[in-house]
Amino acid sequence: MSAQLLDGKILAKNLKEDLCTEIVGLKSKTGKAPVVVNIMIGDDHAACAYAKSQQKVAEYIGIDYRLNILGKDITEDNLSKHIKELNSNPKINGIMVHKPVPKQINHQTVSNRIDMVKDLEGVNVGNVGKMLLGQTNIIPCTPAAVMEHIKSTKIDLRGKEVVVVGHSEIVGKPLSLLLLQEMATVTVCHVATSEAGKLVDHIARADVLIVAVGKAGLIKGDWIKQGAVVIDVGINQVGSKIVGDVEFDVAKKKAAFITPVPGGVGPVTVVMLMKNAIEAFKCQLKDG
Ligand code: NAD
Repeated sequence: MSAQLLDGKILAKNLKEDLCTEIVGLKSKTGKAPVVVNIMIGDDHAACAYAKSQQKVAEYIGIDYRLNILGKDITEDNLSKHIKELNSNPKINGIMVHKPVPKQINHQTVSNRIDMVKDLEGVNVGNVGKMLLGQTNIIPCTPAAVMEHIKSTKIDLRGKEVVVVGHSEIVGKPLSLLLLQEMATVTVCHVATSEAGKLVDHIARADVLIVAVGKAGLIKGDWIKQGAVVIDVGINQVGSKIVGDVEFDVAKKKAAFITPVPGGVGPVTVVMLMKNAIEAFKCQLKDG
């Protein structure tokens, strides 16, 4: 038996169509569409390429996406001033600070300067708190993309054993909260789980396994429970190839569903950013 592929490009396309419809409705009601600003510091080649792909998706959906490229020597104070100006500009609905940022900038500190209702990536400390309480629709994009993939399998998470490998602030931790909201039994593993020699045991129990580590082939295919859903968030360059954290060829023989890398979580993540833009826009309409 071979797993059903969770094709991120197809899922992203369907989600994009839903967002297009929503934008058409919002435009006819308000005469406006969301305007978002991505602040990029320096012109890192990979970051620029990623921003271009965001712009393409935004334009397709009907969102006005602006890229503000600032000098790589900008201070945290000056960046905060720039964010303050964008916060007070009523024409701007969403703001993000593109990663990576140079050494003199703390990404969390500057993200906390973004007005909570304009926090495109849901990383402002206030939105993280709201997410814990289930009180916001602005959700960090990669965890949101993982949840969309799981939703597409039609599996009910209630009472399921879900194992998340990786406990970063941008993926593992927020994802564990979203899974808890769906009443899954969540285990979060990390580097110390591996050090303690317990990773294999946890993975063997997982009805749903989500891996976000950044180590090619860390998860061996034969560790996976028969019939599991496997979502691989990892992105690793191996020679000229991009691969995930899961040993795909073996894992696909045991899993019921599996995401490919590339083409799994990545394409959906970009669409989730645009979903947040729409949520921010709607929230600001409500606030008048
Ligand atoms: P991170 O470096 O912030 O965190 C890595 C996590 O892996 C930590 O929790 C760490 O404890 C854990 N870890 C490290 N070694 C381990 C081991 N041997 N066993 C078990 N756990 C181990 O990483 P991140 O920013 O969360 O990113 C993780 C991966 O996901 C990267 O490959 C990144 O490129 C990818 N990523 C993809 C998307 C996407 O949209 N597809 C978005 C964000 C990150």
